[in-house]
Amino acid sequence: MPELPEVETVRRGLAPVLEGARLSRVRQNRPDLRFPFPEGFAERLQGATVEAVRRRAKYLLMPLSTGETWVTHLGMTGRFTLDGTQLGEFEEAAPIVGRHEHVSLCASRKGRTTRVGFADARRFGFMGLIPTDQVENHPWFAGLGPEPLGNAFSSPHLTEAFRGKSQSIKVSLLDQRLVAGLGNIYVCEALWRARISPRLAAGKASKPRLEALTVAVRQVLEEAIAAGGSTLRDFANADGGQGYFQHRFDVYGREGETCRRNDGHPMIRRIVQGGRSTFFCATCQRR
Ligand SMILES: [Zn+2]
Repeated sequence: MPELPEVETVRRGLAPVLEGARLSRVRQNRPDLRFPFPEGFAERLQGATVEAVRRRAKYLLMPLSTGETWVTHLGMTGRFTLDGTQLGEFEEAAPIVGRHEHVSLCASRKGRTTRVGFADARRFGFMGLIPTDQVENHPWFAGLGPEPLGNAFSSPHLTEAFRGKSQSIKVSLLDQRLVAGLGNIYVCEALWRARISPRLAAGKASKPRLEALTVAVRQVLEEAIAAGGSTLRDFANADGGQGYFQHRFDVYGREGETCRRNDGHPMIRRIVQGGRSTFFCATCQRR
């Protein structure tokens, strides 16, 4: 399941091709993904110019010259493909590549045309078109907390957000109203790095701990994004075989293995909190 760093990696791959590009030959190959496509979706993209490729939480947002913003959520298996080949003056509609490709289009920028595809085998992803001046008030975005890589995510923000909370810090960090786009994997990693017990009541976390936590959250996300950059080459090959990158995790998925900080520590444990697995080192993260 793509988390924030993977979505940011996708954004960085799409931006050079789509920012400033005019869209043509837009094809929508089925009526719905997780939700129905908006009415007249392909027609509304056709001829539009993409003004920017942005990310908010795990959504990709592309404001268009038409005044609407094209929103994409990758769900579990959604992926864009770029073939990078010059389509030139071919008259045929862009070919459908693979039976799971649900949207395809051509993006033309500075005399170069790139074929862009969107495939989603499990169809948990979705797309929308929202008037650009109403994006912030749209239900997908209205309740979201600050971006973990933005300036508004800070220890004073967490102090305020966690005040009086008896819920565990692990579960609290997954609350999208408190911080947007942070998923299970990176919460586990950040807590390990900040040496905070996932079971600590959020409201009991001291100021220095929250300071360490905000630093750790940024670090784990930035490192994962940096690692993702190396997969952009494969991503652009559009071969369909490359999954989301496998980052080297310190605790996530490492139940029973030794702690990377000190292999003398008893093994990484897995517990379930709020219905999700938490991985942690009971020695490093005692409190
Ligand atoms: Zn440890």
